[in-house]
Amino acid sequence: MLYATLFTWAHLHNISDPALLKTTVQQYVEHFPCEECREHFATLVEHHPIQLEHVRTPEDVQIWSWLTHNLVNQRLGKPWYSAGEEYNFPDCL
Ligand SMILES: Cc1cc2nc3c(=O)[nH]c(=O)nc-3n(C[C@H](O)[C@H](O)[C@H](O)COP(=O)(O)OP(=O)(O)OC[C@H]3O[C@@H](n4cnc5c(N)ncnc54)[C@H](O)[C@@H]3O)c2cc1C
Repeated sequence: MLYATLFTWAHLHNISDPALLKTTVQQYVEHFPCEECREHFATLVEHHPIQLEHVRTPEDVQIWSWLTHNLVNQRLGKPWYSAGEEYNFPDCL
């Protein structure tokens, strides 16, 4: 259960500390339970338009997470969410 809770978008969106984002992203790249998602995510992080070294403030973290989730949404044919929308995480991965 804890495992399932850790590897979620909700978990990523709740992070505000840049150092914690970096370690969490590294954990996702290495241990995300879905192998295909993990590989795509690793490639996305590697070629990300905002490299993690440039993420230095809580606002940067929020923008990085929002953009990253949208890039995954785009690849999966899901809608693009505007920044600042009221988000709802029922049981999303
Ligand atoms: C790191 C990571 C990588 C993933 N990679 C893959 C993959 O390669 N292939 C795959 O099939 N699935 C992948 N997934 C899962 C996928 O992104 C969805 O979470 C999953 O398909 C469930 O979809 P959903 O529609 O229930 O929820 P989601 O698409 O996760 O959306 C849930 C809620 O998140 C909010 N939301 C959506 N976009 C944003 C945004 N940009 N910013 C803030 N909030 C937003 C909305 O309120 C939405 O209702 C990945 C998940 C994670 C956490």
